[in-house]
Amino acid sequence: MTEDLTRLTAAQLAAGLRAGDYSATDVTRSHLDRIDATDAALGSFLTVTPDTALATAAEVDRKRAAGEALHPYAGVPVSVKDVVVTAGIRTTAGSKMLEDWVPPYDATVYTKIKDAGLPVLGKTNLDEFAMGSTTEHSAFGPTHNPWDTTTVPGGSSGGAAASAAAFQAPLAVGTDTGGSIRQPAAFTGTVGVKPTYGSVSRYGVVAMASSLDQVGPMGRTVADAAALHQLLAGHDAQDSTSLTDPVPDLLAAVEAGVRDGSLKGKRLGTVRQLSADDYAADVRDAFHAALALAESAGAQIVEVDMPSLAYALDAYYLIMPSEASSNLARYDGMRFGLRVEPETGPVTAETVMSATRAAGFGSEVKRRILLGTYALSAGYYDAYYGSAQKVRTLVQRDFAAAFEQVDVLVTPTAPTTALPFGSEDASDPMALYLGDAATIPANLAGIPAMSLPAGLANGMPVGFQLLAPAREDARLYEVGSAIEALVTDAAGTPVWAGVPTEYAAAGSPTTTSA
Ligand code: GLN
Repeated sequence: MTEDLTRLTAAQLAAGLRAGDYSATDVTRSHLDRIDATDAALGSFLTVTPDTALATAAEVDRKRAAGEALHPYAGVPVSVKDVVVTAGIRTTAGSKMLEDWVPPYDATVYTKIKDAGLPVLGKTNLDEFAMGSTTEHSAFGPTHNPWDTTTVPGGSSGGAAASAAAFQAPLAVGTDTGGSIRQPAAFTGTVGVKPTYGSVSRYGVVAMASSLDQVGPMGRTVADAAALHQLLAGHDAQDSTSLTDPVPDLLAAVEAGVRDGSLKGKRLGTVRQLSADDYAADVRDAFHAALALAESAGAQIVEVDMPSLAYALDAYYLIMPSEASSNLARYDGMRFGLRVEPETGPVTAETVMSATRAAGFGSEVKRRILLGTYALSAGYYDAYYGSAQKVRTLVQRDFAAAFEQVDVLVTPTAPTTALPFGSEDASDPMALYLGDAATIPANLAGIPAMSLPAGLANGMPVGFQLLAPAREDARLYEVGSAIEALVTDAAGTPVWAGVPTEYAAAGSPTTTSA
């Protein structure tokens, strides 16, 4: 039997492609077959693009045969979250509002992926407009967690995370506004990174909250995330918030991290306000076990105090909906996307807008538009939005002070492992918002953060989060690859390798949990 190419990491695939062990077409076909065989049960993809993917692969194979220069990862397939705008390919943002929208232009990150010759397998599922933590708020049905299809994959990049975990794609592009890359990575045993704000272009990415949004990489290993991150990052004149810094060598950071003794003398800071002791016991234990491994490898564990974090979640849930309510004003039934005319009465700009928005947005999106519009309304602006911005400054200062004492901060990524569909917490918006406590501070401060698997608890993956100062994304990769190696050695196998690979047809979540 030939080797199953979907089981290989992106780094292994890239090496095999360069060595001529198989073609980009072989690799792409294997992944498309895997999607065919598993996606009815998982629902990772909203749109699969076999023609585009195979055309890219054929072009890479042709160039390689002709001896033309290629990107080192040319021919390694990738999935793309369906908020990244792709010319000629439907881009829905998980919303009825954009169900049939085929964009006329490409996001910069998509252009980079195409230019590097990475075949795009399709567009992945998400909570509508990236608002949520379960992928249940997609207008097109939920994604199921490959570890246990009766549980959620996290969100909002749940389809991206599931695609990487279930061997449908070695690499996945996600977005993170308050944890949407890191929390689904935690729930699916994958690696996900929110880069420094401004280091990856947001041009052509459907906006949720512009001062918090960031595109980032997901994969099964820290090295694979590094390779994709390196490809996505870089200055873009089309994005006014884009940094002009040169892209750091993240693969070199991974190599430095796996060298013997790389953790010696590294200061890892736990955060008093995000203590693992306040988390579910299985998460706490897996987190402490990973931390103990780091300590025995020479890392120094220091506890830091970040008092402003007590208010960070509240600040996020004012700033995020305020920006979202303003960004989502563009869906008015006039310019693009859904248009619904009122059933009775006059057809005016106002009645069309009202009928379109009532029909096109789901309840979670409406909740946030209402919250944001309220927070920004005259008379409340200073009390809510203004106070939240002050908290944001305090959070930034607390991080600056913390990074004087430590090299990276560490926390569990999420308070629990993946929640079952229909569980009380999965259907309580407040409980879900509280689950973002450890991830949102990085977005408020603009700093980079990574989630990697710390191990398993009751058969489900637990996420370990690392945070570094702005522009120090490389530090995440150095420490992250060291911790990944320790966890893998302790378990005898990488966490992601333990995922079940056969799935019963999941159908609707209500039938699977019965
Ligand atoms: N769970 C968070 C929210 O619902 C994060 C969303 C995101 O990062 N896109 O706001």
